[in-house]
Amino acid sequence: MLEVTPFDGQITCIKTASPLGGQAIMWVYAYLVEDVLFDAGCANTISELQKCIEKHPVRRVYVTHNHEDHYGGCAAFVPEADVFAGPTTLESLHKPDPLPQFFQWVWGETKPVKKAQKFEEPSISVGKLNFEVVDLSGHCEEMFGFWEPKKGWFFSADAVPLPSRKQMAMPEENIPQMITRMKEIHDLDVKVLFDGHRGPIPNPQEHIETRINYLSQLQTRVLSMAEEGKTIPEIKIELGFPEPWYLPNTEGRFEIEHLIRSLLEDSV
Ligand SMILES: [Zn+2]
Repeated sequence: MLEVTPFDGQITCIKTASPLGGQAIMWVYAYLVEDVLFDAGCANTISELQKCIEKHPVRRVYVTHNHEDHYGGCAAFVPEADVFAGPTTLESLHKPDPLPQFFQWVWGETKPVKKAQKFEEPSISVGKLNFEVVDLSGHCEEMFGFWEPKKGWFFSADAVPLPSRKQMAMPEENIPQMITRMKEIHDLDVKVLFDGHRGPIPNPQEHIETRINYLSQLQTRVLSMAEEGKTIPEIKIELGFPEPWYLPNTEGRFEIEHLIRSLLEDSV
């Protein structure tokens, strides 16, 4: 599935998802500014993306991080566009990681993009706009955001969790670092946060604060349980978070235990 929505006259939101019963399983956003695309959507929509670029030409693609819902669509844009990514993400673009069957269904099987290149510049120009490249590691080992201070636009990928009360995590997520990154974004004068899954969020301060406060309070709670001598499985039982139906299908990629472990052991 693919939907195109203009925002503010200057940005085109390209939403992609796989359908389930006519509904999107989970939208992921790519954002087009002039002919530069931030993220590329999921692999299941490559043929729709190829049709989309007939109307909306793309010359450069910047991939924020190496999760397949954000880079799986890259193959739709070559050879017309140059694809750029950070060093770790680039490895996945060149040789995508094998996916559990569940994610092949949810996002599609990612094709390699051999000609993808490394970007190391501290900023990128798009016409008259100048985007600072911002380190957003925390959601995963390497993630970059793009900040345009004059406009107050922040392309934040997955730096701010979609749920207000995050209850599970991936093994690569560093939650204390994620909290720090959200505080850094919060301290900027962001007018619109361009979130990877929720879409554009005008005046996002409250949205970000809710997630900082929840995760900080959860960390305090989890640390005090550990001080009482409770183990991670015991803390999980005490928290009582419900397990969504699809959790076993993720083959360990999402777990409540990953969230608890990160809150206990990871440092910023
Ligand atoms: Zn992600």
